[in-house]
Parts: sequence; structure tokens; C-alpha cells
Amino acid sequence: MPSSVMMSDLSWEEYCRRITEEDAVVIVPVGAVEQHGYHLPLGTDWMMATYMACRAAENIGGVVAAPIAYGARSQVRTGGGPHRCGTTNLCAETLIALVRDVLMEIARHGARKIAVIDSHFENRFFLDEACYRAQEELRVSGRDVRIVKMLYAERIKPETLEIVYKGIGYPGLDLEHGGILETSMMLYCYPDLVNMTKVVDEPLPAFPPYDVYPVNPDWVPQSGCLSSGKAATREIGELLVEEFVALVTSCLRQEFR
Ligand SMILES: [Zn+2]
Repeated sequence: MPSSVMMSDLSWEEYCRRITEEDAVVIVPVGAVEQHGYHLPLGTDWMMATYMACRAAENIGGVVAAPIAYGARSQVRTGGGPHRCGTTNLCAETLIALVRDVLMEIARHGARKIAVIDSHFENRFFLDEACYRAQEELRVSGRDVRIVKMLYAERIKPETLEIVYKGIGYPGLDLEHGGILETSMMLYCYPDLVNMTKVVDEPLPAFPPYDVYPVNPDWVPQSGCLSSGKAATREIGELLVEEFVALVTSCLRQEFR
């Protein structure tokens, strides 16, 4: 049987050997179950986080923990909002507690190097809280554990942005919901799950600089996307994905060398 990077594929004995004797980095993918327009699947975020974690784990000899598929509540101005069917969110307290518990368990079993790879914009500050609490509690109990948290799409090379958004302009990561970036990456990694005949070309939403409760569904384009994925291609996906894989790999090598 070929050796896998997925914790779920390993026996307890093999997992134990990898994280203790080999001191492997345990990578925890965290995503979301969220609408991504008519053309992308609900699992886009957690599947991409898992893909990134696996590729980075292969490069650094790491192990990928069972993914945390659900994520923080979708915000209207960054994820299209919580009101669409299929957008299945955790509240902040649940997400913080869930991630903290998983990190503490991984450390309790002997891992000293843990990375949290995030693909859902709204998770950010709640993952920060979970990582901070877990590390602090471990430190107080005398455990030497280092945790790295990363939203891989946070930094994109300017020359890549020029190629990807040629003639269009980068709308910003907050509006990259179901747009060129996510659609292209999915075309490269999970082509069978993308339906390009369903991509719509709507103008960018003109959000006011505030939020309102209850949410106003009229703020969000009909498809649920916040920018158009019309110009997405598999080649753009390859460019972005390979850049992010290299970035995650080098950051983890840097912090865990
Ligand atoms: Zn997404």
C-alpha cells in the first residue's frame, strides 16, 4: 500500500510514528460549506483547503489531518451571505472551540508542529483565536508546540495578478467569491465539479460601507457570486494553484525547519 499524507488513511501506529519519531508537520485544512454561484460546488472552500494541504504535505513530508469542512458564517460583502440554501455555517464560538479542540488533540498525541490552512475569508479571526488559545494552553501546561495559520490566497504576486485579471482588474480577495480565482483553481483541481455553461457575467456588486441585520439579499448578485468567473481557465488555475502550493510549502519550511 503506498504511503499516504492523509491522517485518515493511516493506522494509529503509523500516524503516531510520523508525528513523534519523524516530527512531521500536521496540516489541518479548514474551509466552508458555502454557495459559490450556479457553476461551483458547495464544497469549493474545504476541498481547495484540503488540496493545498495535501500538496504541501507531499513537499515537506507532512500529514494532513481530517479536514474541518464547515466554517464561519458567510458575510454578505465577502461570501454572499448566510441566506442562500446550502450555505451551512458554524457560529464563531463553535468554530473557535472546534478548531481549538482539534489542535489540542493533535498536540496531546505528540505533534509539535501544526499548520492550519484556511481557504474561507470569514474564518480568519476565529482561527486566530483558536490557534492562540490552543498554543497558550499548551504553553502553560509545559508543551512546546508551534502553530502556523495561513490563508493561502492572501498574497498573490503582482505579475500573476496582471495575467489573471488582464483587462479586468483584481476586484480584491473579498469579492473573489466564485470569481476568476476560485473558478480557475477548481477547473485545475476538480474539473468534473465545475459547470462553465452556468457561469454568469454580472457587474460587481456596489456594497455600501456597512452591514445590515437582517441581511438584505438584494445586495448580492442573483447567482451568489461576487465577481464573474467568466474569464476563468484551467491554465489560470494551474498558475495560481502552483504559486500557492509553492508559497505554503516555503512558509512551512521556513517556520518548521
Ligand atoms: Zn470560496
